[in-house]
Amino acid sequence: MSDQTFDVIVVGGGNAAFCAALSAHEQGVKVLVLERAPKAQRGGNSAYTGGGFRMVHDGVATVKTVVPDLSEGEIANTDFGEYTAEQYLDDLGRVTQWYCDPDLAEAVVRGSTETVQWLHGKGVRFVPRFGRYAFKHEGKFKFFGGTVVEAAGGGRGLVQAEYTAAEKRGVQIRYNAQAVALLRGRGGVQGVRVVADGVEEEIRAKAVVLASGGFEANREWRARYLGPGWDMAKVRGTRYNTGDGIRMALDIGAQAYGQWSGCHSVSWERYAPDFGELDRPITASRNGYPFSIMVNAEGRRFVDEGADFRNYTYAKYGRVVLEQPGSFAWHVFDSQVEHLLHEEYRSKGTTKVQANTLEELVAKMEDVHPGRFLETVREYNAAITRDVPFNPNVKDGRCTQGLAIDKSNWANAIEKPPFAAYAVTCGITFTFGGLKIDTTTHVLDIADAALPGLYAAGELVGGLFYFNYPGSSGLMAGSVFGRIAGREAASHALSLKV
Ligand SMILES: Cc1cc2nc3c(=O)[nH]c(=O)nc-3n(C[C@H](O)[C@H](O)[C@H](O)COP(=O)(O)OP(=O)(O)OC[C@H]3O[C@@H](n4cnc5c(N)ncnc54)[C@H](O)[C@@H]3O)c2cc1C
Repeated sequence: MSDQTFDVIVVGGGNAAFCAALSAHEQGVKVLVLERAPKAQRGGNSAYTGGGFRMVHDGVATVKTVVPDLSEGEIANTDFGEYTAEQYLDDLGRVTQWYCDPDLAEAVVRGSTETVQWLHGKGVRFVPRFGRYAFKHEGKFKFFGGTVVEAAGGGRGLVQAEYTAAEKRGVQIRYNAQAVALLRGRGGVQGVRVVADGVEEEIRAKAVVLASGGFEANREWRARYLGPGWDMAKVRGTRYNTGDGIRMALDIGAQAYGQWSGCHSVSWERYAPDFGELDRPITASRNGYPFSIMVNAEGRRFVDEGADFRNYTYAKYGRVVLEQPGSFAWHVFDSQVEHLLHEEYRSKGTTKVQANTLEELVAKMEDVHPGRFLETVREYNAAITRDVPFNPNVKDGRCTQGLAIDKSNWANAIEKPPFAAYAVTCGITFTFGGLKIDTTTHVLDIADAALPGLYAAGELVGGLFYFNYPGSSGLMAGSVFGRIAGREAASHALSLKV
């Protein structure tokens, strides 16, 4: 047994964990963070993110509270719009088909702006999210979809700032430390069993916060809970999120909650490695599909590529790709829209084919039926409402009419060479099912009663996301609940001291 005891142990080393650790530390308690990964791979999926935060804002006034060095030029050339609490709640409800737990949603939304400001106060730098969430149109950036800021340096920058803030405050961090079980005493959860560098030990504390991510990196659980075929998906992020925190809590009677058969998954480079690469976090993303047609092995379109802005569809279209024959697809563009594609389409390791005719293109597109592909493009081109102008910043209503699967927006003809096609498969980001918590982040048992001394935040919380996900709400939810969890765990620990 370890000779050290702590007030609060935080299991996990990503964004939710560090929000919990920093917040617990504010209460003057002794905090230990257990990170399963080695130091070089610390930070969980949070380190792989683009660092985007979806928060309630009223435009430039809110943005300036977290980006104080916003320049006059940026202000003059940018329309940040506004994003109200009602819009945020509506987005969460709409994309989750209204399954989203209303109390948890309300807590995230109402706490969002203040929590980003709190993180800024801890030393996290933010910048406007130009590029991914705003296209330049007629000389001005216009934001769409509610996400206006990201951590400087993306996910790596965020995690680096959080570790630095914690280290500066004396929070202890142990790497290569895998929590495997929760310890219980009369007062509830009182520590964890850990395997650190291959040796098992028990570490005591007065409260435990679980922030160890979902089970997306667990091939067996994916097949078991998400369904057949999911064992074959590529993992976009860390290899260390195998559902340990969820299992440990279920083992002591916690309630399983949310959509265990659901996950966030996207179009991802077809031949990407099995797990994410920390130094190349988003190069395998393929997010330009709203301007493409997506075709499968049969040469057919299978989804409305322009149903909504990318950040309201990308998280559910990975599943659609997984369900295609052979679990792959191609994004096809012509030269009129290629300039709208981000860096990721030009990165090393991209499976791209290019040609001056569609016949030559499809001959290069591995495993695609050529005749049906040419027929698909002909029919698609003929169905476009060409009198509606194209505008990537709004849902422009430039659609097709009369196809079996129409495209609702951004329907540009595939007619101007050179043509390009990119091969994709399904990349899983994180899982939706997890533990049930209340709005103070207590982990609940099957009778909805709090398990004393046990708190949870981040990806392993169930009930927020179902079927789909509004982009950039993962970091936000983890931050809001992580901050609450740290405060609650610390005050529980302090209450046991008197
Ligand atoms: C490529 C990519 C891009 C993304 N982009 C965005 C974005 O821009 N905005 C956004 O909001 N979300 C984004 N997400 C989703 C986002 O990553 C998550 O919602 C968020 O980071 C989850 O944070 P977390 O702290 O719960 O989990 P993680 O950051 O995954 O942290 C989990 C931690 O637990 C550790 N761990 C696991 N098991 C154990 C154990 N037994 N003992 C000890 N430690 C353990 C892991 O090593 C890890 O450090 C993205 C995800 C990916 C993969």
